[in-house]
Amino acid sequence: MAKRDYYEVLGVEKNASDDDIKRAYRSLAKKYHPDVSKEPNAAEKFKEVQEAYEVLSDPQKREQYNQFGHEGPNLGGNGFGGFDFGGGFGGFEDIFSSFFGGGRKASQSGPVRGKSLKTSMTLSFEEAAFGCEKEINVTKYDTCSDCSGTGAQSKSDVEVCKRCHGTGRVIVEQNSFMGRIRTETVCPECDGKGKTIRNKCNTCHGEGRVRNTSKIRVRIPSGVEDGQTLTLPGKGEAGLNGGLYGDLYINISVKPHELFIRDGLDIYLEMPVTFSQAALGASLDIPTLTGTNSLKIPAGTQTSTKFKISGKGITNGRTNQTGNLYVVVNVVTPTRLSSEQKDLFNRLANTKENTSDTTFEKIKNFFKRNFS
Ligand SMILES: [Zn+2]
Ligand SMILES: [Zn+2]
Repeated sequence: MAKRDYYEVLGVEKNASDDDIKRAYRSLAKKYHPDVSKEPNAAEKFKEVQEAYEVLSDPQKREQYNQFGHEGPNLGGNGFGGFDFGGGFGGFEDIFSSFFGGGRKASQSGPVRGKSLKTSMTLSFEEAAFGCEKEINVTKYDTCSDCSGTGAQSKSDVEVCKRCHGTGRVIVEQNSFMGRIRTETVCPECDGKGKTIRNKCNTCHGEGRVRNTSKIRVRIPSGVEDGQTLTLPGKGEAGLNGGLYGDLYINISVKPHELFIRDGLDIYLEMPVTFSQAALGASLDIPTLTGTNSLKIPAGTQTSTKFKISGKGITNGRTNQTGNLYVVVNVVTPTRLSSEQKDLFNRLANTKENTSDTTFEKIKNFFKRNFS
């Protein structure tokens, strides 16, 4: 059989641009690829297309071909005896990915679970402590409501694939440089789904899902902590081919409180007290998360003393555990004294102050040993 003109093979004009040639080649390679083509003599045609492209895509070879035809010095004869795996155009894999969109792996059939998504949310101290309900906007793929995810205009538009009879797999024979090979592969007609759609849904164009921004109501349990991740099962993206929805992960950050510091379910409050209150004892009004609580501190309370108010911490909505409120007393040294107060402090200083604290003793002894 006489060789056909390369331009004729690719169906392009003699003065076709490189891009035209590439485009023609891609579409023909797709049409005749032996793994997928239903055309008679697909393998031969594929080889012919491959050969024509190899020459016309190379400026030097194309020039020679234009001058000498198939008999050009470095053309024809040998060199085209099979598929080009490592050729300039990227060979096999490139052709595959060009029409399966990402190589063989991407053409796996069957239900594919939707992607799980991550988002974040900032809560006030109180919202985290007591729990709350929040609404968030999430942009994601959802099941197309117009076709309920079938991708078809109506139920009768979904048919069992004629090529693979619903199995999603086909056996192909291909000629390669290694001889004739029979391989099972994903059905190219239905992309492995086993079903084809006669009239595709106008909304999702057959994909069965659409990208939406939807509002999701989230119930935050009481006691969530800064840095915690909440999982909302099934609130991620819609799956493909009847696959399940993915999950939605919400990373929680909690704003600090102006008074309270949190440690798990316990909360801490630094409570300023005066010298007199610390020395004489006092009944203090302590702010809590829910109101006020009175706390008696004994006479002679030292600064940094920790008092516990049981059950006034945070309740974990899941475990029902409740933490405590710890009040840490901070004795504040007065800075601006009235003359009357100054007088009182002077009188106090001249009395024999009780300095039974061991640190005072230590310092006294240190001075005695070293300086007296
Ligand atoms: Zn099929
Ligand atoms: Zn649809």
